[in-house]
Amino acid sequence: MTPAAAGGQPEVRHPEVKRCAVVPVRDGVLPSGAIEAVAEAHGDVVLIGSGVADAAPGLTGIAHNVILCEAGDYSVGAWAKFLGHVVANFDLVILPASPDGRDLAPRLAAVLGRDLVASTILVGADTIETIAHGGRAIQVHPVMVDARLVVTFQPGTRRVETDPDMDDPTIVELHYGPGLGVAGSEPRSQQAPTADVRVERVLPPDVSTMDLSEAPRLLGGGAGLDSAERFEQLSDVAGSLDAAMGATRVITDRAWLGHDRQIGTTGVVVDPELYIAFGISGAVQHTAGLGNPEHIISVNTDEHCPMMEMADLAIVSDANATLDALQGLISERLEP
Ligand SMILES: Cc1cc2nc3c(=O)[nH]c(=O)nc-3n(C[C@H](O)[C@H](O)[C@H](O)COP(=O)(O)OP(=O)(O)OC[C@H]3O[C@@H](n4cnc5c(N)ncnc54)[C@H](O)[C@@H]3O)c2cc1C
Repeated sequence: MTPAAAGGQPEVRHPEVKRCAVVPVRDGVLPSGAIEAVAEAHGDVVLIGSGVADAAPGLTGIAHNVILCEAGDYSVGAWAKFLGHVVANFDLVILPASPDGRDLAPRLAAVLGRDLVASTILVGADTIETIAHGGRAIQVHPVMVDARLVVTFQPGTRRVETDPDMDDPTIVELHYGPGLGVAGSEPRSQQAPTADVRVERVLPPDVSTMDLSEAPRLLGGGAGLDSAERFEQLSDVAGSLDAAMGATRVITDRAWLGHDRQIGTTGVVVDPELYIAFGISGAVQHTAGLGNPEHIISVNTDEHCPMMEMADLAIVSDANATLDALQGLISERLEP
């Protein structure tokens, strides 16, 4: 990224800076952070991968223009080469910082001959903000008026309101194939990478190790759970519910769980559809990293704590006893 000119004069980005999002899709499912990336790109998006037409309705109320590239199995090297033609005329190309987005972005940047800025949380008119030091700091980068960049955007860091009155997006289907693309839009660099991945097998995610930011269901544990062993139990229950497990900083500070399981501003920023909190007070440093869950269930002995106030279902109860009961119910159901 090129710093703004010295001398204290703020750079003013050209009003016609063109931005678009590129979202890799697998089996018709949008990755985490897709909606935020499209919103940050002001509604222009290229969907590439498998089942892109099935994924497009998920952008209703956010996207204005959608280009569909049905490109089959995951093949980021070839996709990057193809996309180099499709997005060459856009100044800012924004990908979600999902695992596939992080994989595709540097290859696309190489094809386009541009700088890559990773982990952004704001792509402004003349500055870009990124998170640093594992989320402990925010860095503000001034950018030159004519900077042409590829950026990845952190999921769960930007509130997105869908507009119910927005017209359906304009959809353009693009035939995917080597050497094809939008006529007259050539990538800057001819140094396209040739190596590519080959998908051998797709394994189901392991909930105990999966990236928390990707998990659609999350069980969180806090200081209301009484021992380190409780987190083994919580992990077990989470596994039965196809959910991942996270915790508050109080728990990671006790070393009951690793820092990669900490949810919050100085841990992992998440964005699940369902969050179930066991014995969590709901301190702002925790809830600010929660994204916008559709459903929150909280189990706590203090009915007035912030986590209970936020919850759709607030259960005033001992979290340990509730966890025991839940595990018992699940075992009964699973018994042959
Ligand atoms: C700079 C900074 C950064 C931070 N970053 C983070 C972060 O990223 N993530 C994070 O989580 N925290 C973070 N924190 C810490 C945060 O401020 C809170 O201290 C922490 O989130 C509280 O964790 P907790 O809810 O588990 O514990 P507590 O606040 O102690 O709450 C425990 C809750 O359990 C309930 N409870 C007690 N016994 C039971 C029981 N038997 N059954 C049911 N409920 C029970 C209590 O009513 C209470 O609501 C940060 C703090 C600072 C200063």
